[in-house]
Amino acid sequence: MATQLTTTLAAEEQKLLACVHCGLCLEACPTYVLTGDENDSPRGRIYLMRAVEENKLPADSATFKLHIDRCLGCRACEPVCPAGVQYGQLLEASRAELFGPDKQRGFTYRCLRLVLRRVWLHPARLRFAFAVARMFRDSGIARLLVRSKIPRLFSRRFEFALALLDSSSPVSFASDSDADSSKSGATEAEANAQSQASTMLFAGCVGEGLFSRVNKATARVLNVNGFGTSVPKGQVCCGALHAHAGDLDGARMLARCNIEAFDDSVNLPIITNAGGCGAMLATYGHLLSEDPLFAERARKFCSRVRDVSQQLEGVKLKEGSDRQSDTATYDASCHLLYGQHASEAPLKLLRAIPELRLIPLEGAERCCGAAGVYNLLEPHMSQGVLKEKLTHVRETGAAILTTGNPGCQMQIGAGAKLAGMTLRVCHPVELLDESYRRAGLYQEGGGVDH
Ligand code: SF4
Ligand code: SF4
Repeated sequence: MATQLTTTLAAEEQKLLACVHCGLCLEACPTYVLTGDENDSPRGRIYLMRAVEENKLPADSATFKLHIDRCLGCRACEPVCPAGVQYGQLLEASRAELFGPDKQRGFTYRCLRLVLRRVWLHPARLRFAFAVARMFRDSGIARLLVRSKIPRLFSRRFEFALALLDSSSPVSFASDSDADSSKSGATEAEANAQSQASTMLFAGCVGEGLFSRVNKATARVLNVNGFGTSVPKGQVCCGALHAHAGDLDGARMLARCNIEAFDDSVNLPIITNAGGCGAMLATYGHLLSEDPLFAERARKFCSRVRDVSQQLEGVKLKEGSDRQSDTATYDASCHLLYGQHASEAPLKLLRAIPELRLIPLEGAERCCGAAGVYNLLEPHMSQGVLKEKLTHVRETGAAILTTGNPGCQMQIGAGAKLAGMTLRVCHPVELLDESYRRAGLYQEGGGVDH
């Protein structure tokens, strides 16, 4: 019987079934490194997919589910593969096979399925959910609970979920008065940017729900470097959580809304500051390739997507004030690195901050274990991957860790908090924004001084 998986494999046979079993991807795969089990490697998973496609293994078998579920979807296996196997697309198709109301699935998986379908696809409900989450976070209840260690008595997973939320809080080294000027500055800078927009900002659902400060910083930094920014109305979640969970219909629904929202007649760059969202937006062409009404529009949409660091890569960045006392390190978001191929661009943003001591992080190119909601669905594996990341972060001795994806910010922030580390986790653009503000590049009242 033809299934999503067999159809995908058949449609892209040359490209997707090119695996020659060389094993060069094994050491790049965090789950294989953790378990040493071939079935937790890219090669092993491709082998399982082929077995399903050839009807040698049922798609609903426990083995197939276990090892496909355990994949982080980080795509670290793609750049090291000499045969050019596009593993990410194979994984999505496999998960589409498994996405369904399976009663044998655990409670957390069934909750995720419900939330993705009943909340995430409905913008008003999602806004309400994030408003409640913000109240919980900003009131300090989440932090108090984490500190009390009471949630640990019930469930480590619940404790980590609270720590994730707490880690999305705004933390600034700036003085209170600086922070206030940042708030008042945002509105005016945005208004200024909207009037001469040469870029369009993709705000993101988690981005706007928990990290609106990063969106505001992005608009200000773009603006001071010569790019006005508008934030199109009607945009929705990018669909990454749906695609990674296997809900491709949900992801397509969201993709169509975003294509409509980002007016194709103007051809302006679509800017993201979240590696996960950017990589997802860049796959709309593939996602909608069979849609007669949207296939061409989706391809054009993809060609406009770039990370804020990539947009700024080609310009001579304004320099901010120096941060002599600060040591920072950079962890690459997998999807920014492997999905959007932004390796040097985020570092260039950080180098525009004079005297910032940037310390290389060993394994910066490896996943932190966040991977959407993998940290809640596969807590044991996720914690194993995170532990290694935190060990390397500790070795740098840096006070600040920067990373270009909200999921990674929350994962590393939560892990550091629960491990008792003193570490500020933020987006590179936030640090640059702070240094611009300290250098007086933003006019009083929040405008921009060119
Ligand atoms: S590197 Fe590519 S070709 Fe080699 S085993 Fe891995 S997926 Fe297959
Ligand atoms: S996506 Fe990441 S976790 Fe999954 S097989 Fe590839 S390297 Fe391993």
